[in-house]
Amino acid sequence: MKNAIKKVSRKRIWLILLICAIIIIFPLGMFVVARYRFWVVYGILDSLRKGENGLLSKAEYSEEQLRKVGIENDESVKYSNIMWIVNASNPTPDDIPFICEVSENVSLNSNIKADIDKLFCDVKELFGNELIITSAYRTRDFQAAIYKTNPYAVPAGTSEHETGLAADLKIDGYAQKRFVLSKVGRWVNENAYKYGFIIRYPFWGEDKTGVEYEPWHIRYVGFPHAQIIHRSHITLEEYVESFIPGEFYTFQNYVISRQTAKDGELVFPENFTDINVSPDNMGGWFIWGMAK
Ligand SMILES: [Zn+2]
Repeated sequence: MKNAIKKVSRKRIWLILLICAIIIIFPLGMFVVARYRFWVVYGILDSLRKGENGLLSKAEYSEEQLRKVGIENDESVKYSNIMWIVNASNPTPDDIPFICEVSENVSLNSNIKADIDKLFCDVKELFGNELIITSAYRTRDFQAAIYKTNPYAVPAGTSEHETGLAADLKIDGYAQKRFVLSKVGRWVNENAYKYGFIIRYPFWGEDKTGVEYEPWHIRYVGFPHAQIIHRSHITLEEYVESFIPGEFYTFQNYVISRQTAKDGELVFPENFTDINVSPDNMGGWFIWGMAK
């Protein structure tokens, strides 16, 4: 009888200790995660966001409905390199076009200037904070130097920073992964696509991009690509691969196609406006435009 009572009270003591441990450890653990590793929680939550399926629909055009577009020197077309894909398998070309100095020691691809200014302006208006570019265009030599000392840096020749299409952002006190500890950082992660930018290296995309989570690194791809990538919840690699070469796809009033140039020319349906052409840095071309 005595033994049975002893057993019950011992069990109860263990139970009380366990409950106490849970009461203390759980909130303490949550505090530590929230304070020091919030970016992991944020990355996991972002992984759970459901992507929209089928944003791109295939479209058919007869030969009579298509016109030829030169990969250069067509006055009705805007040429850029905003759809360049750069990663370990697709290094940066030797000549980098469109680089311009936007402020002291900061150079960017001229095609992204207007939209990044708009993003900075809206952040200032909404939060009162100045977004700061900690790194923008880098020469290949500079990337090689960074690679030697920065654990996040990728080898020279494989960094988007060498294209001027990417920028690392911070606000005062919140740089790199800490960026998403700030309201501004989280807002940028959730809204950059409205300005033509994607979070190039999402928490859930490392096996596709080959690069660890970088919530501070935004990459310009313009419209409508940023919207489709963000809403589909895919990486740039997956987006590019989703296009069957030579086919046409619609998204809202846009038509998009990824093609191989024949005799220096691409094809695109007639009666479209705002036609853009960009190489994909994989030997192909993106061409897209809006219905008139
Ligand atoms: Zn970066």
